[in-house]
Amino acid sequence: MSAPAAIGSRILAALEAVRDPELDQPITSLGFVASCTVSPDGDAQVRLRLPTYFCAPNFAFLMVADTYDVVSAAEGVRSAEVVLEDHFAAETINAGVAARAGFARSFDGEAIGELDELRADFLRKALMAATYGLCRPLLAAGAEPRSLVAMTLGELPPSRELDRLRQRRAELGLPAGDDAPLLIDPITGAQVGDEAVPLHLRRARATGVSMYTLGHENAGWVHAVGSAVTSVQVGDTVILHPTPTCGLCRACRAGQDMHCSDSSFPGLDSDGGMAEYLRTSARACVKLDPQTRPQDVAALADAGITAYHAVRKAIPLLYPGTTCVVIGAGGLGHIGIQCLAALTATTIIVVDRNPDALKLAEQLGARHTVVADGSQVEAVKDLTGGRGADVVLDFVAEQGAEQDGFAMTARAGSYYVIGYGGTVHIPTLDIISTERNIVGNIVGTYNELAELMVLAQAGKVTLHTRSYPLDAAAEAIQDLDAGRVRGRAILVPVS
Ligand SMILES: [Zn+2]
Repeated sequence: MSAPAAIGSRILAALEAVRDPELDQPITSLGFVASCTVSPDGDAQVRLRLPTYFCAPNFAFLMVADTYDVVSAAEGVRSAEVVLEDHFAAETINAGVAARAGFARSFDGEAIGELDELRADFLRKALMAATYGLCRPLLAAGAEPRSLVAMTLGELPPSRELDRLRQRRAELGLPAGDDAPLLIDPITGAQVGDEAVPLHLRRARATGVSMYTLGHENAGWVHAVGSAVTSVQVGDTVILHPTPTCGLCRACRAGQDMHCSDSSFPGLDSDGGMAEYLRTSARACVKLDPQTRPQDVAALADAGITAYHAVRKAIPLLYPGTTCVVIGAGGLGHIGIQCLAALTATTIIVVDRNPDALKLAEQLGARHTVVADGSQVEAVKDLTGGRGADVVLDFVAEQGAEQDGFAMTARAGSYYVIGYGGTVHIPTLDIISTERNIVGNIVGTYNELAELMVLAQAGKVTLHTRSYPLDAAAEAIQDLDAGRVRGRAILVPVS
């Protein structure tokens, strides 16, 4: 083996020690290492690609920083470069890591915390996840939860999970030997008391599913309210705007919930709804008719509101006689078509690769459908007398759709980007000479969610759903993965 190849193998082997802090698995087995190259002089470059563009920047930063440390420590490496690709904060993260700056500094003071605290926090969560991994088989075999209090690590059969637990504890400076209790507080290391066992196990289970409890599209019934809450009561049926907002900043006062400077996104940056209960704010609750079944509308809380938001913004452009193209008649697109039909008199053209999706689009209000087989831009031009569409709503925006979408717009037309993943390359001369607009869209406002619920309750926007009990979350994800779910899978906690 040549020297660079040998160094490359060593780097890849060493990278198994770098874990996704959220999933607690090596980045190598998760497929995040896009490439690893080594020059004859020992200059190594590793490129990382995470599955989502919006993966939390703190997670991304930790992985890039850990990768940098591992690559530069590998035997035979003269210089190390780590590049994060296709991430919205890639430039800042790459620059920060290259300069060996702390996380907070590279984000100009906007970061949640310093790197070490963040890492410790992830380690504690990983510890809890590993604890649950060890307790689950014991509980399944009939062990009483309280009997686990007396157990020590030495009494457990050897397993990878146990090794991981010991390693996490050691990294945190917590007891990890054979006589250490199985259940300890992840911060103080103190043995968990008898009374606290059920709660401790619940927490461990929640982190076992994910470092945050997932679930950002939520509806349900109010179970409890704080003392200052006046707008909703226990028992109310509600759907939740996905971002509890501050209500005080300029964006909030303008009704632009998504641009709030002090909001959270449960399920993405804090604990979400794949649980018995979810904590949110009164400002996020949209009250529903008590007859509404939350499971029928929950997916409107993000997918629905996003499609509605784009259509709502485009309404002034969609007067009678205009044409609107919808690219992508999938999960969001099929809601967008229903919103267009309910709110406007525009002529709807739907473009999709899948003939079945186009059949559904026709039933939902599409006047024309176009199979995306390579001739879709021409087809739209033909259907619009050569002009192009006044508005294009692009729910795909990758794999070429982003170029087609802009090409389908008429002079003074507007291209609305709702999907993401691609890159738009357009000569600026084309933009000015034809006065065409490119419009970004992210989720939607509280008022838009409330409006969408009016449409839903009138039966003008409906969702295809299939429900599963909360405990069958893994099965639901497998079914989604295998394409066995038409529409959205809904998890319902059993009370
Ligand atoms: Zn705000």
